Amino acid sequence: MWDLLIKGATVVDPLNRIEAVRDVAIENGQIAEVGVDLPGGCARVVEDYTGKVLQPGIVDSHVHLGEMWGSPFGFKMLAMAGVTTCLDMAGPLDNVLKNIPTYGSGINCAILQFASPPFTFKTNEPSKEEMDALIDQSMKEGALGVKLLGGHYPLKPAVSSLLIKTALEHGAYIAWHAGTSEHGSNIEGMREAVELSQGNFLHLAHINAYCRGAIRPELEETKEAIELLLANDHIHCESYISPRNGTRLTCFENGKIQSKVTGNCLKRFGFTDDRDGVEAAFKANKVWAVYDAGGYSDLVTGEAGLKLWKEHNTDVGGSFNVNPPLPRVWLAEAKRPDGSFVVDAISTDGGCIPRNVILEQGLSLVKLGILTLSEFAAKTSLNPARMLRLDTKGHLSVGADADITIYDLDTQKPVATFVKGKTIFKNGKVYGSNGTVICTKYGEEFVKGLGINTLVVDPGKPVADRFVA
Ligand SMILES: [Zn+2]
Repeated sequence: MWDLLIKGATVVDPLNRIEAVRDVAIENGQIAEVGVDLPGGCARVVEDYTGKVLQPGIVDSHVHLGEMWGSPFGFKMLAMAGVTTCLDMAGPLDNVLKNIPTYGSGINCAILQFASPPFTFKTNEPSKEEMDALIDQSMKEGALGVKLLGGHYPLKPAVSSLLIKTALEHGAYIAWHAGTSEHGSNIEGMREAVELSQGNFLHLAHINAYCRGAIRPELEETKEAIELLLANDHIHCESYISPRNGTRLTCFENGKIQSKVTGNCLKRFGFTDDRDGVEAAFKANKVWAVYDAGGYSDLVTGEAGLKLWKEHNTDVGGSFNVNPPLPRVWLAEAKRPDGSFVVDAISTDGGCIPRNVILEQGLSLVKLGILTLSEFAAKTSLNPARMLRLDTKGHLSVGADADITIYDLDTQKPVATFVKGKTIFKNGKVYGSNGTVICTKYGEEFVKGLGINTLVVDPGKPVADRFVA
């Protein structure tokens, strides 16, 4: 007897080269069979999704779940958007872990602790010993690795390079939002990050963020980004498709902006990069603040946004419309000579930042004929699963985890999701709770002690060859 039989959907499974109407049988949280007209009598529960599309569960490889980026509601917001697995790209680790039993929505998440002054390092020149201590402790407490938020809180170039090497020595996952004390979060920062990675694995965050026209015209920057990635296939990466970015609007006592990204956004729109600039930007509806809209986060600008920002003593998450459209589309489409994608995955940089738009906006790329359904599934599930070394996710092979996203191509909205065969989301409602943390063997015991499930992976092992659709 199968536990669940999902009938009638168009199944899109790039790894197994399936794009056709099929039934999917699930047993003990795993895929038991994918076939034509499987017998309903062999299953305890049968659900019909005729007319909908079914793919391996969406893996969003760049999200934020830490409250400091918006709210504790990221888990639920991701589930509502059809995501079954995510990579949290900054923590704070203890805050995300603390919130999973209370706010978790049953989805899987891997967490990268931020390796950033003034939070986890005292200065922008941490010693090797400080790095060892941070990485070691973070992994023991359930992190998959660390994230260097260079664009926001930069380290010196040589120190950034040492951090990558040190993370890899520890068998940790390492991601970098490009930028150092020498170069910003732009195409020059990206070039520097690629060079400083010295041929080692690196997850380079949101490539589109370096192609906003900060240094040269945006399409020249996009071409340069693609050429850099073609010449450096040890770099794994994602790009998002929302026009909005995500940052923090915190000002120091002296009125200066804490985040370099926020400062640059303000200057780009003609404001000063200080407290007065943020105030003027709110009044001109050019900056949005993230606020708690009652169980989920939303954005607010204008006088209401200004009031909120002041009430929180400037310490709120924020967003600017800074991503021009053509680089986002080009980065989603670009391929290598062998047919694999230059940018491995479509991400959102969402989570508790309200822009979880993989389906809502990503499926427009399918409708425009820029991606096929199989390519979309590869970029939103198989490829990011491989980046995270999740062998049992990203495909619907027999024995794979029964993580599934079912969506409506007409409305570009999720209809139902399952994690290991359990219903997480259905028809607008979240049914999942708590969650599973994807961590290394060093953190397994600690996470289990918090009453949270674990899935152990080894980020030290090589990434599987890039998939060719
Ligand atoms: Zn981010």
